[in-house]
Amino acid sequence: MASQIHQQLHFLLVPLMSQSHLIQFIDMAKLLVHRGLIVTIVVTPLNAVRFEKTITHSKTSNLQIQFLSLRFPCEEFGLPQGCENMDTLPSLDLAPKFFEASNMLEEPLDKWLQQTHNSLPLPSCIVADFCLPWTANIAQKFNIPRVIFHAISCFTLVCSQKITSSNIVLDSLMSDSEPFLVPNIPDRIEFTKAQLPETTRLSSKKQTSTTTDDLEGLIDQFKEAELSAQGILVNTFEELEPRYVKEYQKMVKKLWCIGPCSMSKQATSSGNKASMEGKDCYFLKWLEPWKPRSVVYVCFGSLCKMSASQLKELALGLEASNRPFIWVIRKGDDSEELEKWFTEANYEERVKERGRIIRGWAPQVSILSHPATGGFLTHCGWNSTLEGISAGLPMITWPMFAEQFYNDKLIVQVLKTGVGVGVKECVPLGVTDHDQKDNKVMVKREEIKKAIDEVMDEGEEGEERRKRAWKLGEMAKRTVEEGGSSYLKMTLFIQHVIGQVGSNHSNLCK
Ligand code: UDP
Repeated sequence: MASQIHQQLHFLLVPLMSQSHLIQFIDMAKLLVHRGLIVTIVVTPLNAVRFEKTITHSKTSNLQIQFLSLRFPCEEFGLPQGCENMDTLPSLDLAPKFFEASNMLEEPLDKWLQQTHNSLPLPSCIVADFCLPWTANIAQKFNIPRVIFHAISCFTLVCSQKITSSNIVLDSLMSDSEPFLVPNIPDRIEFTKAQLPETTRLSSKKQTSTTTDDLEGLIDQFKEAELSAQGILVNTFEELEPRYVKEYQKMVKKLWCIGPCSMSKQATSSGNKASMEGKDCYFLKWLEPWKPRSVVYVCFGSLCKMSASQLKELALGLEASNRPFIWVIRKGDDSEELEKWFTEANYEERVKERGRIIRGWAPQVSILSHPATGGFLTHCGWNSTLEGISAGLPMITWPMFAEQFYNDKLIVQVLKTGVGVGVKECVPLGVTDHDQKDNKVMVKREEIKKAIDEVMDEGEEGEERRKRAWKLGEMAKRTVEEGGSSYLKMTLFIQHVIGQVGSNHSNLCK
């Protein structure tokens, strides 16, 4: 009976339309369909095009994975036409508008659910992004169990909860640069207010001048929707942060740590070589002749923007490090000023023996898992952090905003597998663009070179760091395999849903 129901289980995944969230949801979807489930992922037309290739492999293997493409109302909310993914926002200041537009997906999804009964079983579970509180209404209306998926670490979840729930911590600080200890956590971790994401600052008792009503209201809704969910899935694994998983467990009803979901790429080989085009293959081939663990890979994710001056400084820091490197420059960063400087300084010619620049999108997971790659200079987005950990790599950390400082502290101070470039403060949402205009340099070339040297160093300290990173990479691989803890947690999660099917969905079992 259980397997019969299991075969009919249909999971509806509802991600925020941001590149890093979509990637994690699609990776999770692949893990789910490999367990024999039917999975529908809510996307929008342009995101469906972007990700079509990454699910083609699963589809051709007869796995039941599909997109449900819903119209995204960009223009109604003052967003540029075709702005269906946060990485196409002209400024991150528009993020609240983007969230508002995301709320409008409720109605078409509701309609779809009313019509699906004949072609597909009604979803047995909704896995919703933390940032989409309206999914709670849908779940309630159709009586579907709903869980929240967190695309961040338990370390972040615990630290931010401890900071926001302690009314003395932030209120007692004299300035934004005064360090404070995160109370009641397993490690001695210091932050300054300037390093906290806006969401944490707004949730604290006394708010800062950066408070916006829009954002504040949103955070309240997110929290409410989280509290009413049946449980929480987190894209992390117990072996990585056992004490923080245990701590977070105490704060929620049910917790399943099922990551790293990006390991599904290894499992299915899609999103990897299978979907690779000429440009991507070129960079992987370029890595071939380099000594194992000698190349530095540099990438700042899908949202960060840097000023042209900062990018020049980074270029000079990479050159000064005298190590082979692949550096990804985002389209938004690819400013005329920078390109002009590249030409005038003859930069690419100067570094051509050992450096390559990728303009646009890089096959990150494949580059990280290449044997020649030895270090990852990252902005510490959670996807990138987990991908670096899974590849067993030491990291050079350069956090910028959102929860990236938490990930930086996890890597450098808890896991001890990275070295920071020394950024002191968070760049709040939107300020990246002002920064771009001001042309500020936050990190000097000497600091960049120093951090790269430390991480790539072949001496005892570097070797110890590499060993720790390699060990975590091995754990990450094992945890998603049969018998591993994330594999088991996924089983327990599916069993939980099966348990709910009987009580909530007698129609499914007919
Ligand atoms: N990514 C990629 N190629 C790129 C840039 C980013 O594949 O050129 C992927 C990366 O592997 C990761 C995601 O985009 O999965 C970025 O997510 P993360 O959470 O690290 O950062 P965000 O984009 O949210 O700042």
